[in-house]
Amino acid sequence: MILFPCFGHSESKNKEDEYKTLRLQMVDQQIIRRDITDPNVLEAMRTVPRHLFVPEGYRNEAYHDGPLPIGKGQTISQPYIVAIMTELLQIDSTSKVLEIGTGSGYQAAVLAEISDSVYSIEIIPALAHHADSLLDSLGYGMVQVRAGDGYKGWPEAAPFDAVIVTAAAPKIPQPLIEQLKPGGRMVIPVGELTQELMLITKSEDEFIKRSIIPVRFVPMTGEVQEK
Ligand code: SAH
Repeated sequence: MILFPCFGHSESKNKEDEYKTLRLQMVDQQIIRRDITDPNVLEAMRTVPRHLFVPEGYRNEAYHDGPLPIGKGQTISQPYIVAIMTELLQIDSTSKVLEIGTGSGYQAAVLAEISDSVYSIEIIPALAHHADSLLDSLGYGMVQVRAGDGYKGWPEAAPFDAVIVTAAAPKIPQPLIEQLKPGGRMVIPVGELTQELMLITKSEDEFIKRSIIPVRFVPMTGEVQEK
């Protein structure tokens, strides 16, 4: 057993309390005020310690209203964008969810607060490994993280109730659409310089596409760029 000196322990507890206060304010001011209402999404974002998913030098900005760098030229999305994308997926504890673009692992942790079955693929191995061990250490070990190109999805685990892509694709990758269950939902930023967040809903025999809001994401790399 490790005994922490009393001072150090209470000091870090105070810091965690401060982050918790900032997190609750983030949800009130940035998420609820912009009309996100799904109680599962709000509770997940009140719970996941976003400050632990950003590099140490950015911890004090973790609850600000914007994206932040996470290394390797990539970013963790603005909290509101995480919230709206998660809400659009309409998931619950029984949903099987696939994320393309693990990045820091933050979005995967938000998904894992809601759903018991989360798969996430990250093309940059160093980010995949970092996110995987961070998720494990924070009790999100049920998230399965794979290093690789997410273009072809995760066929062994398909079909999914929901697919979320957190990098912008020039067009919607067909294999991901095919891995949706009937009734399934996919959210994906589509475009290059200008991008739109698209919601695709699969019914028995067709796909319904809806444009939600303009967004700006880092590009999806790999095979999607070759087509
Ligand atoms: N969801 C992340 C943010 C991701 S930023 C979070 O919560 O922190 C987008 C991520 O998508 C980057 O880490 C980038 O490396 C990754 N990415 C880009 N193209 C990809 C591809 N083809 N397959 C899997 N991951 C990809």
